Amino acid sequence: MITIYVLGALQSAVWFFVTPHVCKYIWPRLFGQHQAEVAELLLWCGLLPYFVLYLVVVALPPYYLNWGFFEQYKVSDEEWPWRSMHKEVRDSFWKTARSSLVLDVFYLSVFPLIAWVKIVAFGSVMFDTTEDWPTYSESAFQIMSFVVLHEMMFYWIHRASHPKSGSCVNSRVNDIDIALRHCSSSSQAFHNFPSLYKYHKIHHQYKQNNVLASQHFSVVDFFFSIAFPSIACTIIVRPHSVCLLQAALWLITANLDDHLGYAFPWSPVRWFPFAATTEAHEFHHRCNIGCFSSKLNLDAVFGTDGQGRLKQEKD
Ligand SMILES: [Zn+2]
Ligand SMILES: [Zn+2]
Repeated sequence: MITIYVLGALQSAVWFFVTPHVCKYIWPRLFGQHQAEVAELLLWCGLLPYFVLYLVVVALPPYYLNWGFFEQYKVSDEEWPWRSMHKEVRDSFWKTARSSLVLDVFYLSVFPLIAWVKIVAFGSVMFDTTEDWPTYSESAFQIMSFVVLHEMMFYWIHRASHPKSGSCVNSRVNDIDIALRHCSSSSQAFHNFPSLYKYHKIHHQYKQNNVLASQHFSVVDFFFSIAFPSIACTIIVRPHSVCLLQAALWLITANLDDHLGYAFPWSPVRWFPFAATTEAHEFHHRCNIGCFSSKLNLDAVFGTDGQGRLKQEKD
């Protein structure tokens, strides 16, 4: 297993050490003839094919092949709904999947427009390859600042969007669910906004995750949970364009990985200590209790681990 975790670390090493060299070479060819404002817009648009790449390379092969090697890492005990013997289960899945695809296309089209408003109002990030190209220590600082700030924003917005109680769809734990509804004393002190859950519950239509859930949001939820933290962090941190690209790849990969349904140990966003886990987000969708993190395990800091994931699913 340790060997497989090394694969995740190697991917992260390539992402951190190799990406800047590749970008320094291709940046003048991609963006040299454009003003920085247009260049940043093109960079945001350039992230969109990454969703397709992840879908084709990471998600679809295990979904389609159904090989035992992949299935050993499946998080949920439930069978995939598209493989169900019951027609109504399959029909319900494909109906939700179709709406997810429409939402995917819509949000991936709208996001560059939101980014453009940011660029016009607050200016663009830097694209110059000759001066101020970040060193590794500067890259580390900018990327970590961006990701930590983003995770803080995402965590608190996500947590505020949830009611304080939830209910598991897993019958094994329903009997202890009542006793554990109120997650922790810290969550009692925190003010939730129940009115936000009527928007966020669209995302929770998926009780068992697959990658299509990653962008399955209502418009209001998409703006507060997805668009706002990314744009706000770009304004506050003002990373160099290559650091913005690297941070965005981390965010997007974690978002897709949260909903993959498989906890692959070679994931580049899960191998290190204090990483949030795919299992935790799967639990979050199924039980609506705690586990609000995506990239970093802030649930361990703020005591919202879903009461020890409902006592480790009642042991
Ligand atoms: Zn949620
Ligand atoms: Zn989710």
